[in-house]
Amino acid sequence: MATKTKTVNTSQPKEPKKICQYKDCDAMGRYQLTSNFYKSRNVSIGYHPCCKDCINNKIINIDDMQTVYDVLQTLDTPFIQEVWTEALADVEENYIDKYLDLINNTYKTRYENARYKDSIYEKTSSIEKDEDGNEIKEWDDEWQGYYSKRELAYLNKYYQDLNNDFKIITTNHKDYARRIAQASLIMNDTYNVMRDNPDDKDAVNAYNTAVSNFDRLSKSAQFAESQRSASDVSLGCFGKVFDAVEKHNFVPKHIPEDKDMFDKIIDQFMNINRSL
Ligand SMILES: [Zn+2]
Repeated sequence: MATKTKTVNTSQPKEPKKICQYKDCDAMGRYQLTSNFYKSRNVSIGYHPCCKDCINNKIINIDDMQTVYDVLQTLDTPFIQEVWTEALADVEENYIDKYLDLINNTYKTRYENARYKDSIYEKTSSIEKDEDGNEIKEWDDEWQGYYSKRELAYLNKYYQDLNNDFKIITTNHKDYARRIAQASLIMNDTYNVMRDNPDDKDAVNAYNTAVSNFDRLSKSAQFAESQRSASDVSLGCFGKVFDAVEKHNFVPKHIPEDKDMFDKIIDQFMNINRSL
């Protein structure tokens, strides 16, 4: 029977495929899986016409932000300066890939309904000042102190990042994480003052005190670690941090906006040299 000779076309792809439209694509002219393409939040666009490789390696030029905006516009995904800054600090390449991972997954609840028109190009300032130009601080129950919104944002971000990177379970863990966050905030603020007033001895002293407090905290944490290592709670993860802090090579990649950390470490090494 003639109908029996009809066979199913097994070459039919199960997953729809697309051809990248970028002129210099390595896979130009060949079909690629749609998973190689970024999906637009605008269903009428579907996917970006260029494949992920081309977008990350050929189209995006981080010195020309328009290339970034253009891709995000096609994906109808918001550009959020703070998230972009985080992506830049977090990876060496494939910035768009990292950015989309942050926007679509890490910060899903915040941005899942946002479109390109909801973009925020400026870093949002959370510094509120009174008539005298001092930061307005309010009591915070969680941190048990008077803090400005900027400081709370710093502390909460630092604490949250520690939480993401390490297992913070016990009250002791939480206490150490909080105190490290607070010491880091003070070190950050005193560093900024010192950088703006390099000849001000008080500013330099304040920074050096902050650094030694941070160091002392890390030392005591390490001491506590060896004390507590006999307990059931594994502190291996924390030990690594404190060990790194101890060796002055603690570079928390989870504080992307804090590029100054490298300056601080260099500064710490200078102090060591001076004391030798
Ligand atoms: Zn391509």
